[in-house]
Amino acid sequence: MPFAYYERLSAARKRIYRRSDEIHAVRLPAPAALAPLVARVEHWLRAEHRDELELACQRLANGVCDQLGVRRVRIRLFAVRPRADWGELHGLYEAADGRTPEISVWMRTAQRRRVVAFRTFVRTLAHELCHHLDFELFKLPETFHTEGFYKRESSMLNQLAGPPPARPPRAV
Ligand SMILES: [Zn+2]
Repeated sequence: MPFAYYERLSAARKRIYRRSDEIHAVRLPAPAALAPLVARVEHWLRAEHRDELELACQRLANGVCDQLGVRRVRIRLFAVRPRADWGELHGLYEAADGRTPEISVWMRTAQRRRVVAFRTFVRTLAHELCHHLDFELFKLPETFHTEGFYKRESSMLNQLAGPPPARPPRAV
């Protein structure tokens, strides 16, 4: 089932949407090799050190891009998430012709200015990297949020940060 906005797309864009929806995973050739880089991200996020965290994110993004054989993306890390009527901005992917694509991520929530939880932070990074891969790896002319896209995001998150924590059994 495509998301509601699918109906408003042109026929050409619907085709791109459907291609995006059909890809369910990103397979990293050697995720274990990225584990030390993920550990650095966790360390510097908890230490709330912006410069070191930015560098750790850059190295992790480089590792992902290099493993998948796509060009690298520049990471920019900011302090407090921007907030608007629609909510908080977690991350942003920007690609313009002739420039190195950029990913912006924020390390603190707008509401309480708390450091973002580690898994949420890695998910945001994986999300923005998936936008990059839509263009660079899957050669899609446009990057849409489709169910397939969110599956790719989760697949990358699970390869980087491990499977989601098991939910405690619910009382009946
Ligand atoms: Zn997005």
